[in-house]
Amino acid sequence: MLIVQKYGGTSVGNPDRIKAVATRVVATVRQGHKVVVIVSAMSGETDKLIRYAGQVSSNPTEREMDLLLSSGERITTALTSMAISELGQKAIAFTGRQAGIITDAVYTKAKIERIDADKVNKALDNGYAVVIAGFQGVTEDDEITTLGRGGSDLSAVAVAAALNADLCEIYTDVDGVYTTDPNIVPEARKLEKISYEEMLELASLGAKVLQTRSVEFAMNYNVPVVVRSSFNNNPGTLVTKEDQDMEKVVVAGVAYDKNQAKLTVMHVPDKPGIAARLFNTIAEANIVVDVIVQNVSADGLSADISFTVPKTDSRRALELAQRLADDLGAKGVDVRDDLAKISIVGVGMRTHSGVAAQMFGTLSKHGVNIMAISTSEIKVSCLIEAKYTELAVRVLHEEFGLNKHN
Ligand code: ADP
Ligand code: ASP
Ligand code: MG
Repeated sequence: MLIVQKYGGTSVGNPDRIKAVATRVVATVRQGHKVVVIVSAMSGETDKLIRYAGQVSSNPTEREMDLLLSSGERITTALTSMAISELGQKAIAFTGRQAGIITDAVYTKAKIERIDADKVNKALDNGYAVVIAGFQGVTEDDEITTLGRGGSDLSAVAVAAALNADLCEIYTDVDGVYTTDPNIVPEARKLEKISYEEMLELASLGAKVLQTRSVEFAMNYNVPVVVRSSFNNNPGTLVTKEDQDMEKVVVAGVAYDKNQAKLTVMHVPDKPGIAARLFNTIAEANIVVDVIVQNVSADGLSADISFTVPKTDSRRALELAQRLADDLGAKGVDVRDDLAKISIVGVGMRTHSGVAAQMFGTLSKHGVNIMAISTSEIKVSCLIEAKYTELAVRVLHEEFGLNKHN
């Protein structure tokens, strides 16, 4: 088989951990498999580099940010390759560029356009374990890009798709995908398998165990993904196509996201075209808008438009919204970043009613106020004050029967 193994930050967090990764890679090769390894930077490294940038510049260019951030993965790639060689297995390390990972030119959140895998394929055919730096690529113009936080997951899935790999294993610091973050709710249960759709919702709603775009990619290209621990040999969670068993479960998981800022453009004229203009402007800046709420005032003449964006984009979104508000003669723009989004996800919601009401009831019973709601076929999300995050996750997890003993 051809297996892609991705190791996250904790799994390559120090030289001893890297040696443990090398041991696992070599064991996999000795079982007769071809192995491509994708590594993240050591845990904390990317955050450290971001802090450094902030210490020398109030507004670093995104191009230089990407050059900076891509260095973390270079280090672990080279070290992992060395550690594998040390065990007597041929290995070779590639940067994203050397591995042929070609992206668009949107710095800090580039999209992979294609992978020119000749070099990787040749190395595999020559008996090498190939180690590739995650999270990074290169544009047609030879500019270094990164794929957004957590982007090594995407590197792994995309490489697995390009090489037509039999399996993409995501090695991390928990045993698999749980009903909610096991580091917040010890009662969380590991799932044996989960559908791409549910995983996509959980990831986009904050479960950082897999990067959202990696799940999207896996779903589109039908890449079988297994999430498992690099610290033991437990079986992990298979992310795969939906089956009938999965539909019986109403709520498969609970997710939370504290990385949300809510902007409110106050008293905009209530007439056609305003929302389109606002959200076009935001979209052109490559900012992803999530929950949107519009309230028309009692006199029917003006409206408040609220929307959420990732906190990292809130400054830019505020600038844009402010400018538009001035143009439109709106009253101003208000920002809050002390909010969190709590979500329940499950394909079974398609065929069960009353799930949203049960969620609202549970939150209200615990005194948690809901500030905005958004729903899709298989999820319900509520915006609440961030200080209630852990409480809300715990009570919803229990309410929907997800605790271990159930
Ligand atoms: P890596 O560095 O290996 O990429 P991440 O920190 O990005 O690891 O993701 C793993 C973390 O995701 C876990 O430590 C856990 O706290 C968090 N997490 C959030 N939601 C879930 C969930 N539903 N199942 C498992 N882990 C989750
Ligand atoms: N090192 C990058 C990050 O911390 C990418 C990754 O770990 O997947 O976001
Ligand atoms: Mg990650």
